[in-house]
Amino acid sequence: DALVTAGTAAARAARPVVPSTGDAVVDLREAIRAKLAYVIGRTPETARERDWFAATALALRDRIVDACLAAEKQVPNKRVYYLSLEFLIGRLLSDAMNNLGLVETTRKALAELGVDLGTVEGAEPDAALGNGGLGRLAACFMESMASIGIPAYGYGIRYDHGLFRQSFEDGWQREAPETWLAEGNPWEFARPAATYRIGFGGHVTMSMVSEGVIRRTWHPAETVRAVAHDVPVVGWRGKTVNTLRLWKAEAEAPVDLGQFNGGDHVGAVANRMRAEAISRVLYPSDSSTAGQELRLRQEYFFTSASLQDLVLRHVAERGDVRSLPDHAAIQLNDTHPAIAVPELMRILLEDHGLTWEDAWHVTTNTLNYTNHTLLPEALETWPVELMERLLPRHMQIIYLINWMHLEAQGKDGKSDAAHLASVSLIDESHGRRVRMGHLAFHGSRRVNGVSALHTELMRETVFADLHALEPEKIVNKTNGITFRRWLHNANPGLTRLAVETLGEGVLDNPELLRGLDAYAEDPAFVARYAAVRRGRKEALAEVIYDRTGVTVDPSALFDVQIKRIHEYKRQLLNVVETVALYQAIKSEPHKDWTPRVKIFGGKAAPSYTQAKLIIKLAADVARAVNDDPDVADRLKVVFLPNYSVSLAEAIIPAADLSEQISTAGMEASGTGNMKLALNGALTVGTLDGANIEIRDHVGPENIFIFGLDAAGVRARSAEPHYARDAIWNSPRLAAALDMIASGRFSPEEPNRFRPLTDDLRHRDQYLLTCDFDDYWRAQREIDAAWNDPKGWWKRAIHNTARMAWFSSDRSMREYAEEIWRVKLA
Ligand code: PLP
Repeated sequence: DALVTAGTAAARAARPVVPSTGDAVVDLREAIRAKLAYVIGRTPETARERDWFAATALALRDRIVDACLAAEKQVPNKRVYYLSLEFLIGRLLSDAMNNLGLVETTRKALAELGVDLGTVEGAEPDAALGNGGLGRLAACFMESMASIGIPAYGYGIRYDHGLFRQSFEDGWQREAPETWLAEGNPWEFARPAATYRIGFGGHVTMSMVSEGVIRRTWHPAETVRAVAHDVPVVGWRGKTVNTLRLWKAEAEAPVDLGQFNGGDHVGAVANRMRAEAISRVLYPSDSSTAGQELRLRQEYFFTSASLQDLVLRHVAERGDVRSLPDHAAIQLNDTHPAIAVPELMRILLEDHGLTWEDAWHVTTNTLNYTNHTLLPEALETWPVELMERLLPRHMQIIYLINWMHLEAQGKDGKSDAAHLASVSLIDESHGRRVRMGHLAFHGSRRVNGVSALHTELMRETVFADLHALEPEKIVNKTNGITFRRWLHNANPGLTRLAVETLGEGVLDNPELLRGLDAYAEDPAFVARYAAVRRGRKEALAEVIYDRTGVTVDPSALFDVQIKRIHEYKRQLLNVVETVALYQAIKSEPHKDWTPRVKIFGGKAAPSYTQAKLIIKLAADVARAVNDDPDVADRLKVVFLPNYSVSLAEAIIPAADLSEQISTAGMEASGTGNMKLALNGALTVGTLDGANIEIRDHVGPENIFIFGLDAAGVRARSAEPHYARDAIWNSPRLAAALDMIASGRFSPEEPNRFRPLTDDLRHRDQYLLTCDFDDYWRAQREIDAAWNDPKGWWKRAIHNTARMAWFSSDRSMREYAEEIWRVKLA
């Protein structure tokens, strides 16, 4: 990862920040030196890069602490609590320096110690506590809340091992554990005083509290301790410091001494292992559920700890738990924390003695739920039997909530079986399972989708019947990205150009980027804009060479698809088009083909066989294409291993073309699409997720749209044999599929890719075959556009100029106003 940073280091030298005074440099230099000596225990001569990073982070953390302590003393009128099983944070050093306005000060302080800032930045491990978009969204939202002054806590899990490290062995994905905590985390504060007990299993007793009033009490069979670890989140210009509180699981007793003394040394720590397993590893699945017990334990563990913590804070500050909705808004990021509905009810009923009606009022006026997907395989459901065993009290509460919910239908005259089955919190169609989406929906005040299309589809599909009961509940909140990280830090050259053209204000108000529209055909500006891109492409070419051994020409079109590998995201469509292009170049070698480098990055869930085979196909096609002198200089294919936030920061500013080609209706929003467009890559995409809103903002002439829309997908899916017909009607597609199926790319195992080609011919759930010809057309239109540099740069600049609306500051303001009802200062 040092290389990734080296690639961006030169560009970073140009980062536009307020120049620091000499004294500030001296102060920071001495602070870093002191941390190195007295915390790390090294001299400048013996310090490794990682030690310099830790010393620098600790010195900067001190600057954040004062604001942190001040924030703790204040009691804001209302706080936001963002519960998320994932926070895909990445590195924090450049965020912290940039938001504190200390980039140049740090650079100089380190230089005076003989150390290069870029090297120190490269020594920070990525905190990869998330899989992809959902987790990265949570990280962007945390940064934006601190930047616009929303008092907030993020709550999640402090995984010892985040998302696995990906490497390729002969083109096959291999996974290795990631060890970001191996040398500690200088950003965090352990808070053993904030420790809560989390119960599992056991039984429930009933007792008569007074005449006719029965109290139920849960007696868990097992308890685990949740210990808080706080990471400060500093906002832009150091305005607000919020807290990301991550829970670590610990056993009640580290060792059973009786067992140990009896000679059972392994058995003596078995309980500890079982407890600690909860925060050991991030589940590596994106957009599907494994349905395993450990996952449910993780979900309940962090949800319960977070609710206990925030209720305790509320009661300490306000005295009465009944006023919780006035002073706290809880956001559930997807259904992973949906167990919050019965858990908050349990806390209010059992620990605070509220009546059911009061508890339900508090719960349903405090909780809100964000839905992230409509894909059936990603909608969480838990077997009733497992819930009864692991969380018996919660299952009782869910039954009672559901009984009242269904009774209310009857009173409204909607008691037909089909309607009740559709709105019930329990799915009885194949075994009895708790529908976590329905539970979160019913227990929340507001439910939001993450793009306009996705929200509309929520209303029409999975939540249609629940929506009809409470039509005001579903609202749209289109996702956003933090410009501090994805423009200022990731692309300092472009940021400096924007500042020099439009003034410093553009750093505070992204709407001012709109001013760049006026320069889209200004030759001097265009030359500088193009030079920034060129610099980043040269840097990326070095990273590509270092990691894959492939040499690419920075003047070729860099065509980028970076995201989790998933069939609905259709990397396979891109690979098949690559094969078709390869065939076309070979059959007309003297034609004036537009030179392209196809760049892929992304991880497949370790158990997702089809996705791993798509990676292998991309690798095998890459090998054949890159080795073929007939296409040299016109087509190169690379798959960069171990896609991560840091790698994204290196790739995005170097991209010319952004591939956003999911089957329409299946990508809830996307955020990679926003990052690439902001940095001036043109999008080739379907009318899916936020692509639609990106088109509306950048203008249809500045984006390449192709393929079926969501309604078209629905209609075509209903036709019999649509894949067979599409292949029959497209000789180009048929030839590409034949080439793959023939073993041309896998001569050592000719049938290797038959599972992919057979699936396309006979099933093609993601309608790749139906969109292929239009995708090919769009790609050739892009070739032509690339050959008109003036036109290309004009479009690119319009993209950068018109993406301000996609700032997560805007998303957070909308949540604050319409969901959380938090007033901004
Ligand atoms: N993974 C990382 C590291 C990212 O930075 C992003 C960016 O938004 C994503 C995944 C999500 O990408 P997409 O929206 O294209 O699925």
